[in-house]
Amino acid sequence: MAQEVRGVVAPGKNEPVRVETIVVPDPGPGEAVVQVQACGVCHTDLHYKQGGISDDYPFLLGHEAAGVVEAVGEGVTDVAPGDFVILNWRAVCGQCRACKRGRPWYCFDTHNARQKMTLGKGGAELEPALGIGAFAEKTLVAAGQCTKVDPAVSPAVAGLLGCGVMAGIGAAINTGQVTRGDSVAVIGCGGVGDAAVAGARLAGAAKIIAVDIDDRKLTTAESMGATHTVNSRDTDPVEAVRELTGGNGADVVIEAVGRPETYKQAFYARDLAGTVVLVGVPTPEMQLELPLLDVFGRGGALKSSWYGDCLPSRDFPMLVDLHLQGRLDLGAFVTETIALDEVEKAFERMHAGDVLRSVVVL
Ligand SMILES: [Zn+2]
Ligand SMILES: [Zn+2]
Repeated sequence: MAQEVRGVVAPGKNEPVRVETIVVPDPGPGEAVVQVQACGVCHTDLHYKQGGISDDYPFLLGHEAAGVVEAVGEGVTDVAPGDFVILNWRAVCGQCRACKRGRPWYCFDTHNARQKMTLGKGGAELEPALGIGAFAEKTLVAAGQCTKVDPAVSPAVAGLLGCGVMAGIGAAINTGQVTRGDSVAVIGCGGVGDAAVAGARLAGAAKIIAVDIDDRKLTTAESMGATHTVNSRDTDPVEAVRELTGGNGADVVIEAVGRPETYKQAFYARDLAGTVVLVGVPTPEMQLELPLLDVFGRGGALKSSWYGDCLPSRDFPMLVDLHLQGRLDLGAFVTETIALDEVEKAFERMHAGDVLRSVVVL
């Protein structure tokens, strides 16, 4: 039977979010209903509210979540009721040309639940944020969006792996392929940039240079593993990174802002034949201009990292295990835990740069 639960809905462009009664249908074939235990507040949720993603209101917000599978539909074999899972935004299809070539982290045909949750009984269909919608007591997803992990981890910590923290760690270890002894610079030290710092440390980077315009963020980046910090409001970051790397530039530079100016900094702060990873998300009007001769002459790789090029079934359990072994401090990303009706306030604190992550705990 369909269930009525509470969820955080964005009703229209820039309107304050509200806790509403939502209807969660029983899982159909290939679907699962998950009892949400925790869900982080991400910039993407704010972008949905502001109309920056699409105009398909009402949205059911929340997408960095962990919880327990309550029920599964026909044909679901990978997860079962009672499993503790982290939700991901993209259930891999297994059939597209990327999957068939053995590169499922690029899957070009990912999917979400087919049925829709609604605003009250018979009300408007809800568009779940990134196909998840987890600022809710329960949510309906495709079973492939559920990845089973060790239930010893705190849900508030585990949920963050479902989006921003995975994007940052993955930008370093999957896309940038940071390895032992590398020098790494990270431009932009919010949640994603800090996770890239943590990923670089995990991969054995010898030098990790954090760049930001906010000293508070640089202090946090140091606690995540940055060996050097550069405030790019006072100092030219390209010069500073070169100075810290024997005049050469870093082996890998991770751009976690998503702006042409910072991308250019990343491009020139990189050693010859080095790698630039763009994990910051640009907006449609942004244009990049670079001398093509420099693109050619400096060699190396210019890569984009989408969701940290992660494969949830491979990366989520591994990162949870490393956290439980004390080798990756995911707890440091949780600034505060809040209730379901405090999401609007959390948006303000996030916008002011006061928190790394507020996490709704249910
Ligand atoms: Zn696929
Ligand atoms: Zn997110």
